[in-house]
Amino acid sequence: MNREHDRHGIGMTSQRTRERLIQRLYDEGLSNAGVLEVIRRTPRHLFVDEALAHRAYEDTALPIGHNQTISQPYMVARMSELLLAAGPLDKVLEIGTGSGYQTAILAQLVERVFTVERIQGLQERAKERLVKLSLRNVVFRWGDGWEGWPALAPYNGIIVTAAASEVPQALLDQLAPGGRLVIPVGSGDVQQLLLIIREEQGFSRHVLDAVRFVPLLNGPLA
Ligand code: SAH
Repeated sequence: MNREHDRHGIGMTSQRTRERLIQRLYDEGLSNAGVLEVIRRTPRHLFVDEALAHRAYEDTALPIGHNQTISQPYMVARMSELLLAAGPLDKVLEIGTGSGYQTAILAQLVERVFTVERIQGLQERAKERLVKLSLRNVVFRWGDGWEGWPALAPYNGIIVTAAASEVPQALLDQLAPGGRLVIPVGSGDVQQLLLIIREEQGFSRHVLDAVRFVPLLNGPLA
């Protein structure tokens, strides 16, 4: 890939494919203009291996190594919309940095993102990508997402990009009043996207789409 191509996002073809992706997300009912605009301008091809760059603007998950995947753009948009549906957020905790793509989208929509990943190699690459895109409002942690990031709690929004067998108690504890948690729960083929809101008393729980994510595993890994 030469520098000119890199700068413009693999040429004009890609510009058209990007527009097509945005149109498709819109047609599928995603309507938050801010979210769609951020997806339009974020170069997803920089978050996958060069060999897969030509597929970066398809609405599909793609492998990123270590048996993990970069989330499907539809899911990234959907979860971002759910998180932001009640208004702007200043502090968001993300569990499962992966490629850093969802992180990069959030970083352009909220004030600060705190992101936790258990695989160090993925985290390092994600960091490099965000620096390259001059996204500086992100703090990274290598650790176990089941525990959240208690030292910096509470958060106005928490997003989990891997499927948990149950809702981690630590994440509920770290939600600010009015805070919103978006999390896929379940195992194997049976997973449901949940939106959990911390109300004045207790939590409200909304069961949304059937989804398919890689599992939320236990413990950090070198
Ligand atoms: N949002 C990412 C999705 C990556 S897939 C992207 O778009 O690229 C889910 C990620 O969750 C993987 O990187 C995986 O390593 C991470 N993960 C799984 N279990 C975890 C845990 N307990 N703590 C932190 N990260 C975890």
